[in-house]
Amino acid sequence: MGKYESFTFSETASAASSFKSRRGCFVKATTGVIFVSVTVAIVIGVGLIVHFTEKDQSPSCDKDEVQLPGHAAADTAGKGQTKAPGTTSAPVDWSQTCKNMATGNENGICQSCPQSTCPPQLTGAPPAAKSTPTPPVEFIRLPKTIEPVDYDLVVTPNFYGADPESFTFDGSVNIKIKCKNATDKIIIHSKQLIIREWNLTPEVAPEDIKIDGMTEDTTQQLLTFTLNKNMLPTNFYHLTIKFAGPLKTDLAGLYLSSYQEGGETKYLATTQFQPTDARKAFPCFDEPGFKAVFRITLLRQEGWHSLSNSPIASTEDRNGMKADIFAPTLPMSTYLVAYVVSQFQHSSGTTKNNITYGAWAKPESVPYTQEALRLGINIITFYEELFDIKFPLAKQDMIAIPDYPLGGMENWGLVTYREEAMLYNPKTNSEYTKQRVTKVIAHELSHQWFGDLVTMQWWDDLWLNEGFATYMEYVGTNFSHPDWNIFDQFAVGDLYDAFDFDGHRTSEYVIFVQFLTIPPDVQESVYCTAIASGGWEPWNFALEQLTKTIDVAQISLIQRALACSREPWILRHYLTLALNSTYVRSQDTLTVVEHVAGNQIGATFAWTFLVENWEYIRSSFGGAWFSFDRLISSLTRSFNTESELKKSIKSSNVKEIEPNQH
Ligand SMILES: [Zn+2]
Repeated sequence: MGKYESFTFSETASAASSFKSRRGCFVKATTGVIFVSVTVAIVIGVGLIVHFTEKDQSPSCDKDEVQLPGHAAADTAGKGQTKAPGTTSAPVDWSQTCKNMATGNENGICQSCPQSTCPPQLTGAPPAAKSTPTPPVEFIRLPKTIEPVDYDLVVTPNFYGADPESFTFDGSVNIKIKCKNATDKIIIHSKQLIIREWNLTPEVAPEDIKIDGMTEDTTQQLLTFTLNKNMLPTNFYHLTIKFAGPLKTDLAGLYLSSYQEGGETKYLATTQFQPTDARKAFPCFDEPGFKAVFRITLLRQEGWHSLSNSPIASTEDRNGMKADIFAPTLPMSTYLVAYVVSQFQHSSGTTKNNITYGAWAKPESVPYTQEALRLGINIITFYEELFDIKFPLAKQDMIAIPDYPLGGMENWGLVTYREEAMLYNPKTNSEYTKQRVTKVIAHELSHQWFGDLVTMQWWDDLWLNEGFATYMEYVGTNFSHPDWNIFDQFAVGDLYDAFDFDGHRTSEYVIFVQFLTIPPDVQESVYCTAIASGGWEPWNFALEQLTKTIDVAQISLIQRALACSREPWILRHYLTLALNSTYVRSQDTLTVVEHVAGNQIGATFAWTFLVENWEYIRSSFGGAWFSFDRLISSLTRSFNTESELKKSIKSSNVKEIEPNQH
């Protein structure tokens, strides 16, 4: 894309050296103005959608089959499990009838046809509860009168039973606070946590200071502790809080993920904090400018393993469990803290400069971490030499999480990835998968410097952070694979367009019968062509393959191919399945919408779907706002003119757009 063309390799190196001279400071936005337009576009896109969320929700169909707004809880038990095979076998001869019913907007489709074909807009079922417009919230930043210096955080995930509905976590945090200006208030973030006990002690006794009371503002996600007297400038205090929270499959804060092993569901507790969900895992000063040292302790059962940003310094017995005590981190932002408790296994190596590098995955996937491990070890050393700044941590881990909202997250020293962005099977995966893995790793590792070592003071400079990392993903990939000529892809952007198959729609769906014999590099083209040129049968066949396969690259490939259909009713049907975890894992919901949006025929449906289900999508994926820029760019790319956009908005029955809002 043009936005990157003014960068050169040497400019990057000089930018790196300017970072070097500002080590420990924060990024100030003085360069890279070219990225502003992208940010503005994203902000406007999000703003537009938020603007239209007062619309009524669509009527729902069968809540067991299609999960709609308000049914989030029903999703918990099934989410994260391998898709149940054979749940969508259709009678051979119903497809034309159902197609006619769908085209004719006949409500009877929900009774006569397989439940999974029942789109919400066709049903006479009671509508979902109307969302109540919420008053605008005044945006509040934490006061600068005090600042955190050091967190001593102890966390215990309680998830060893059989019932995931009962899983929780609890913990305590001791925050060492420095007072900068006299104040009798401590205000910090907390979201959906139960606050059990709190206490304040001065670092140097005797100072007769204590907490008189605590109030919680759930809208602003703030805890306010009022003291009996002022804290004094330059003095240090310790705020101790005991807390607990539910361990849910909501992909935000400390959350629950799962996978299948030998017919059994295995669970793991893992984190995703960016941008503002550290506060959902523990009370904290959850703004990127408040850097502090983190001393983390994770309690786990014997036979489990824990990971965090630092290496484990020691392990001791505590409360009948094992307590892994991690080495203190360097000063860092809350959104980059990460921890995982799992039964994962790993492959490992050492970089040229003696950094221990581990690649973690569920046991059966460990063989497919080899490429990621090799790439990670090589790229980290390449960046050290390019930036002329040694990697500042003692270890670097990467981990493939079965339920993950993003491609990857650059937690300092513990980068989390979605499985298909890290695992690579040379026997079954395509060159495209290999390229994607390489790019995501190159991107996240560059953040270990751009973003983690030097960090924006506030989120308004995130574009600079992401702009550099997006550029560096090409630099790192080009270093790993000069034969790919990856910089050529700048001209067409970094979003692979899988749907432009108009010129060669000749194959038949019978190709699917030879599913596994097709060479990996052409599978995507073949699947998409078969779906695009066929009707319901090849589409439904592919859907069945989706529910049967556990190969993450195949899942990703089939999900893209399913969006290649030229049948509007099939695309609408696919969108309804995006909210059904039997077919589409929650981590992939937005990806499916994005794929449908990338199909010219599906763009309007995707837009309507997003608007109608916005409240549910926002509540389910609100923390993963990085997903939204891609999604909105896919959606808006299909609307080339103002009249097209207006037409779509009109057809989705949302408010008329203001002329200056796009
Ligand atoms: Zn990034």
